[in-house]
Amino acid sequence: MSDNTPSDHCPLCHEVVDVFAVGQCDHPVCFKCSTRMRALCDQLYCAICRANLPKVLFTEKRCQFNSTKTNSFMVYRKLNIFFENRALQDRFFKLLEHRCKLCPPSDVKPFRTFSALQNHMRREHNENFCELCLDNVKIFSSERKTYDRKKLAEHRRQGDEDDKSHKGHPLCQFCDLRFFDNDALVLHLRKQHYFCHFCEADGVTNEFFDEYNYLREHFRDEHYLCEEGECADTEFTNAFRSDIDLRAHRASEHSKNMKKAAAKQARRIDIDFSYSGRPSEYPSRGGGRGRGRGSNERQERVITAEDYEEVQQDRKSLRQQRQQERSGDGYAFN
Ligand SMILES: [Zn+2]
Ligand SMILES: [Zn+2]
Ligand SMILES: [Zn+2]
Ligand SMILES: [Zn+2]
Ligand SMILES: [Zn+2]
Ligand SMILES: [Zn+2]
Ligand SMILES: [Zn+2]
Repeated sequence: MSDNTPSDHCPLCHEVVDVFAVGQCDHPVCFKCSTRMRALCDQLYCAICRANLPKVLFTEKRCQFNSTKTNSFMVYRKLNIFFENRALQDRFFKLLEHRCKLCPPSDVKPFRTFSALQNHMRREHNENFCELCLDNVKIFSSERKTYDRKKLAEHRRQGDEDDKSHKGHPLCQFCDLRFFDNDALVLHLRKQHYFCHFCEADGVTNEFFDEYNYLREHFRDEHYLCEEGECADTEFTNAFRSDIDLRAHRASEHSKNMKKAAAKQARRIDIDFSYSGRPSEYPSRGGGRGRGRGSNERQERVITAEDYEEVQQDRKSLRQQRQQERSGDGYAFN
């Protein structure tokens, strides 16, 4: 390891290090990054090699952990941080202060807790912190921004003018609630709303439905839905990917409800199946999936690769069309 040089940059934040933090693995970082990890994130390991660091030393010069005598160091037991001198300890505590940035420093002391600062900002300055950022971003109080009412709305909707990396907090259009980021929104959509497991398996992962009724409609329009008897009130298990699956389901679940003739018909369909090995005999089904009963029935049962393409195409364009039409009950987000 090289000696202290003028260009000692922290490998985590890339800033020049003026106070070093080092643990038993001898990977020094700046004291801000070390404090951020230990105090804000409860992570007591090295960010470089992930070695557990029960104890770290804060020193003015780069040092070797094992050859540094710490008898005269001051200790913050809660996080087992050893400070070379009182000045370093003061800087550590200053980092964790909850201080108003708008009042002159001589006028107000730092607040004991963050929520005391939050109340002060609201009452005295009409400024607010973003609750979503508070819950999700681990930074020092002094690094947090406050906003007036209008700027907070802007921050939530589209982000801050001076920070292009943050594009605002995405909205669930169904609940009119914002979430920290897209991951959090998707988690919410999957838990609180509905998505189609067929489409998801086909790679469509951004289509959600407010209520089950809209998903049922989707099953009916784009897949195969059984609404016979008890299936009318069933969720999920009465939707099928293919006509064949739907027919198999009908034959096994609903045939006892059918009148004798219809049951006979259902059995005949099954038998027909086994003879469908020569698709060349049958003309192509023509446009669409044609789910009507009657003369088409025989042709429908023969699904060729060609048909499959056509069905996929069909669904794709239908889906696109629906996405354009409906922005209320089902929507795609980016
Ligand atoms: Zn750093
Ligand atoms: Zn390390
Ligand atoms: Zn103030
Ligand atoms: Zn925010
Ligand atoms: Zn929602
Ligand atoms: Zn679907
Ligand atoms: Zn059914």
